[in-house]
Amino acid sequence: MQLQKAKIPEAKILVGGAWREGRSQEPLELVYPATGETFLRYAGASAEDVDEAVRAAEAALRGPWSTKIRPADRSRILWKLAELMFAHADELAELETICTGKPIRETRGVEVPLAAEIFQYFAGWATKIHGETVPTHPGLLTFTLREPMGVVGIITPWNFPLLMSAWKIAAALACGNVVVHKPSELTPLSALRLAELALEAGLPEGVYQVLPGRGPEAGEALVRHPGVAKISFTGSTAVGRRIMELGAGSLKRLTLELGGKNPNVVFADADLEAAVKGALNAAFYNKGEVCAAGSRLLVERSVHEEVVARLAERAAKFAAGQGDPLSPDTRLGPQISRAHMEKVLGYIEKGKAEGARLVTGGGRNEAAGPGFFLQPTVFDRVTPSMTIAREEIFGPVVAVIPFDSVEEAAALANGTDYGLAAGVWTRDVSKAMSAAKALRAGTVWVNCYNIYDAALPFGGFGASGFGRELGAAAIESYTETKTVMVSLG
Ligand code: NAD
Repeated sequence: MQLQKAKIPEAKILVGGAWREGRSQEPLELVYPATGETFLRYAGASAEDVDEAVRAAEAALRGPWSTKIRPADRSRILWKLAELMFAHADELAELETICTGKPIRETRGVEVPLAAEIFQYFAGWATKIHGETVPTHPGLLTFTLREPMGVVGIITPWNFPLLMSAWKIAAALACGNVVVHKPSELTPLSALRLAELALEAGLPEGVYQVLPGRGPEAGEALVRHPGVAKISFTGSTAVGRRIMELGAGSLKRLTLELGGKNPNVVFADADLEAAVKGALNAAFYNKGEVCAAGSRLLVERSVHEEVVARLAERAAKFAAGQGDPLSPDTRLGPQISRAHMEKVLGYIEKGKAEGARLVTGGGRNEAAGPGFFLQPTVFDRVTPSMTIAREEIFGPVVAVIPFDSVEEAAALANGTDYGLAAGVWTRDVSKAMSAAKALRAGTVWVNCYNIYDAALPFGGFGASGFGRELGAAAIESYTETKTVMVSLG
């Protein structure tokens, strides 16, 4: 393992354009998931730090960013930030890899460039956010304005730290808001570097502030703060519920991107080779730590045995690609933390105890390294009532459930409280379209999986949350609409 390769920065907080130590009493630790070694200790933000950051943000709202500069200048700064991200992509990718354990080929090859592109996409929007004139009474000139909401509190998870930050921050800033960001305490380094680059790009001080810290301490202080107009949160459904309760008092605007238990449906007429490859990517990309992971694989009974056999064979091969995330050859990394690895192992034990058939995997992969490596795991003969078919595992575990008809597939697919994403594999266009309509999910992939684009809205139904990130939908969600009526005499 080559942790010494990466340059490890300090983890401070950025308040009002100045870097300083957080004031939380209990220190936090960053651990390299591939070895279990602690590589950094830092003080996270306290409630008092959050209060100072919100006050600095309120002062920044009165500065140039929100209403006093031309949207074209806002656009230029966001584009410049994207260019700096591309220029520092190696460094950002290493920071992301050492905190999360993601393979460098994914952070460098996919996630950092995607995050930079998101800033470019929203840089384009900054000059295109406007209201409309709406003819009503002859004696009135009536129109709408789209205005920034004000101080936006952003809370992000550990599974895609930079990408989730980009989704929210780029859109919020393009709309003229100012941001107080609390990244996950486990993975703050890429957001801290992003904030440095934002200052270098010319973002005025106080417009983007970043405060790593604990959820119940810094996170709750942000959600409770009366100066915060909106909270945009990505994380677990349980914390999403808590945020809704805490935000109710001040009627905060909320975007909640929560968990998923996503169905990936393979019909017998599908290109099975493509479907199996797709199922593997759906279940095991980012070691299954993906909100949209295809963790329930529904397979039509006539091809079920064949699909399971092919999946098991490939999953076992995938395990051979596990290892040091900083090595360019590694395809699958370790879980984020020891506690999370134990949680996933607990689900695997539940799967066995409740009668599912363990086809491959099912334990730690010690050959891959001393850290939190788990084998890609396939369970077959899973029934909808089993725990592994209902609860989000957030690890490399897929539950295969056979079905006999289109109707049964739709009922099984829609049979959880979640509704984030779904996949469908078939060569029959009308079956694909009917399934896309029938599935209760914010995103449906047909003959593909895990494709994202800055222009396409993403979000959930039901317990997967509400509000949409990305695309034009994000612009609506970070602005208020004002109606103006002017009497003409
Ligand atoms: P988490 O809910 O534990 O934490 C998410 C963030 O919330 C962290 O920054 C954490 O510090 C903070 N937090 C924790 N308790 C808080 C509280 N009481 N008040 C305010 N903030 C608090 O989630 P996680 O374990 O970091 O991430 C995994 C979860 O995120 C999974 O459930 C996954 O499905 C979900 N997720 C969803 C999407 C999506 O787009 N829908 C994307 C990525 C991850």
